[in-house]
Amino acid sequence: MAKKAQVNLEKCKGCDLCIGVCPTGAIHRSGTSNKKGYNYIEINFEKCNGCGACYIICPDCCFTLIETTGSAR
Ligand code: SF4
Ligand code: SF4
Repeated sequence: MAKKAQVNLEKCKGCDLCIGVCPTGAIHRSGTSNKKGYNYIEINFEKCNGCGACYIICPDCCFTLIETTGSAR
């Protein structure tokens, strides 16, 4: 079982803290604004290793770590 991060894009304020701590470069700006007008982030599932750094750093509790079954192959 592997973990992957999921983001609640409507809670995101585009502060970029998660981008700075992600060790695999899995997080990037979406280039799109959410309902609050913030440029929210997206996660590249292929690159995410489930380390949880984004989950810990986010001041707005945007992340959830989910269990995934098996590999992505
Ligand atoms: S740390 Fe949280 S609020 Fe900041 S950009 Fe990342 S998901 Fe959005
Ligand atoms: S769980 Fe780790 S690897 Fe995955 S997006 Fe968050 S900081 Fe990056």
